[in-house]
Amino acid sequence: MSPAGVLVLGGTAEARRLAAALHRDPGFTVTTSLAGRVAVPRLPCGEVRIGGFGGADGLAAWLRGHGTDAVVDATHPFAARISANAVAATTAAGVPLLVLRRPGWTEGPGDRWHRVPDAATAASVAPELGDRLFLATGSGDLPAFAGVDAWCLLRAVDPPPPPLPRRHHLVLARGPFTTDGERALLREHRIEALVARDSGGELTAAKLVAARELGLPVVLIDRPPAPPAPSVTSVPEALEWLAATLAARR
Ligand code: NAP
Repeated sequence: MSPAGVLVLGGTAEARRLAAALHRDPGFTVTTSLAGRVAVPRLPCGEVRIGGFGGADGLAAWLRGHGTDAVVDATHPFAARISANAVAATTAAGVPLLVLRRPGWTEGPGDRWHRVPDAATAASVAPELGDRLFLATGSGDLPAFAGVDAWCLLRAVDPPPPPLPRRHHLVLARGPFTTDGERALLREHRIEALVARDSGGELTAAKLVAARELGLPVVLIDRPPAPPAPSVTSVPEALEWLAATLAARR
């Protein structure tokens, strides 16, 4: 029997772990798709393609053209457009879709979180909490802060495009970050409030732990709605779903 072809929509640590597991299994061939946002991406095992598909129609055409048996949307929880495209394209092409998404974070004792629905609301709430902000959001959220008067620390893998907050300092760095490192960064820049997205996961939680230890308020941007598709939160669950779904198709 020929191996089943799986397209992993990637750009996350979960996607790389899933690709590695599928690559080891002779029952699968795996292709990971990356958007091409990062100049030097961390490459997963298996085949890799880079760049947009040209919307849902382009993705559906790619699926048909490559005889894809299943798609796993393992993109970042805030990458809403590609997730919506994946739903539309897999429906059109008749290919099963699974969403692999790590759980969001939960507030614990000592946390001072202010949950907000979007970056625009974060930009109006955060300056009420401090004059020196650490905007630990994705680059795509930074334009929402262009009008704030507060001083802002920004951190990104590659320089973010404008518009950016008027008074800012940019640190170029790629995670994961340690709690010690995050605490030192918050202290060094005398940060008074942190803005972050509810990305979830261990790799990016250190800033929240450091903020809790320093007693700092956090403005946490809620996730966009989950795509309407079967969903799991871990790589082993995704592997189980793929085995069951693809066995049923043969
Ligand atoms: P987005 O707004 O949902 O997607 C915008 C467009 O980028 C999509 O319509 C698609 O173009 C293309 N695209 C996105 N992900 C793609 C993928 N994996 N493969 C091929 N094309 C993709 O996405 P985003 O928020 O810009 O994120 C881009 C990528 O970075 C995602 O793969 C995500 O996993 C990763 N990432 C994002 C964040 C974040 O904060 N959003 C954080 C870490 C990693 P076409 O319509 O032309 O196909």
